[in-house]
Amino acid sequence: MTPFFQYTANDAQDHPVVNSLNDRLRHLSPEAREAARQFPLRIPPALAMRIPWEVDGPLTRQFLPAPEELNHAPGDAIDPLRERQAQGLPGMLIKYTGRALLKVTTECAVHCRFCFRRHLREEPLPRRLRDWEPALAAIARDHTLKEVIYSGGDPLTLSDRRLARLTARLAAIPHLTRLRIHTRMPVVTPERVQDSLLDWMKATRLTPLLVVHVNHADELHPSARAALEKLVEGGIPVLSQSVLLKGINDNLEALTRLYETLIDARVIPYYLHMLDPVAGAGHFQVSDAHALRLMAGLQERLPGYGVPRLVREEPGARSKTGLPSKP
Ligand SMILES: *Cc1c(COP(=O)(O)O)cnc(C)c1O
Ligand code: SF4
Repeated sequence: MTPFFQYTANDAQDHPVVNSLNDRLRHLSPEAREAARQFPLRIPPALAMRIPWEVDGPLTRQFLPAPEELNHAPGDAIDPLRERQAQGLPGMLIKYTGRALLKVTTECAVHCRFCFRRHLREEPLPRRLRDWEPALAAIARDHTLKEVIYSGGDPLTLSDRRLARLTARLAAIPHLTRLRIHTRMPVVTPERVQDSLLDWMKATRLTPLLVVHVNHADELHPSARAALEKLVEGGIPVLSQSVLLKGINDNLEALTRLYETLIDARVIPYYLHMLDPVAGAGHFQVSDAHALRLMAGLQERLPGYGVPRLVREEPGARSKTGLPSKP
C-alpha cells in the first residue's frame, strides 16, 4: 500500500505550493510551533500540493497548527468520549447495541487539528493477529453483535493483507453480518483505493460498508472523487461523516456545496457531528443554535437523501444523540 508521509520540507521541493507551505511553516508563531510539537503537522505531499497555503482557507485550517490550540477551556478534555473508561478489551469499544468498534491502528495519513483523539495517539493497541485473540473471542461469545467497525486512527493505513486476515477471522464468526470501515483515506490519499482493497472487501462473506470522513467540498479533488467512485462501482455502499467546524464549514454555502458534491459522487450523507470538546480544538466549536439554523437551511436546499443527521456523542448514551430543537 501507499505509506503515509509525515510532511517534510524535502518532499516535493520546488513545487510552488509546497514552497508556500514551507514559507507558512517558517512564519509560524511560537504558540503554533508548540501546538505542532504536541500534535505534529502531518499531510501527504500529494495533498499538500493541492492546497494554496498562502491564504487561510478550509483546508489550511484543518491541517496547519494554530496558536489557539494552546487555549484550553474549562470542560475541554484529553479524552472527551471517556474511551479509556468505556474500553473493555484492548482496542475494542462496545458502546452501542449490535456494534463492536475495533481501533485497528492509531496512525492516520493526516493530522486534523480538531481531532478528538489528538491526545490518545500513544494508546497501546493490538498489532498482530495474535494480539487480537481476546477481542475476537469476546466478539464470538457475544451473540448480540451483528457488525464490526474498523476505526482508529485510520484503518486504511494498514495493508490490505493485514486487514484481509483480520476480516477472515471475523467472517468466521457466524452471528456477524456486516463490516464497516471508517476512514479519511479515499479523500486524503486517494491512491490507497486500489483493486487489492476492493478484492478483500468484495470477497468477504460480511456485507461491507465504508464511511468516509470529509468536511469541505475543496477536499473532493477529482482524484478523491475517482476513489469514491471506484468503491461505489465495486459495490461498496459509501456514506459520509463530517464534523461541523467553525471557520471551515459552518456556513450554508460550504455545507450545501459539500453535500451536493458528495451525492453527485454517489456518496450518501450520514452524520454531521458536533465537535467533541477536546482540549486544543475549542476554537472550532460551533454553537447548537447555529448548527440547528444550518440544518434548517440544508433541509430547504437539498433533496431529503442529501441531508445528513446532526449528532453529537455523549459519554454513556445508548446511541449518537440528536440536538434538542430548541436549545
Ligand atoms: C459512533 C460509534 C459507533 C457507530 O454508531 P452508528 O450510529 O451505528 O454509526 C459504534 N461504536 C462506537 C464506540 C461509536 O463511537
Ligand atoms: S483522520 Fe480522523 S482520527 Fe486521524 S487525525 Fe484526522 S480526525 Fe483524527
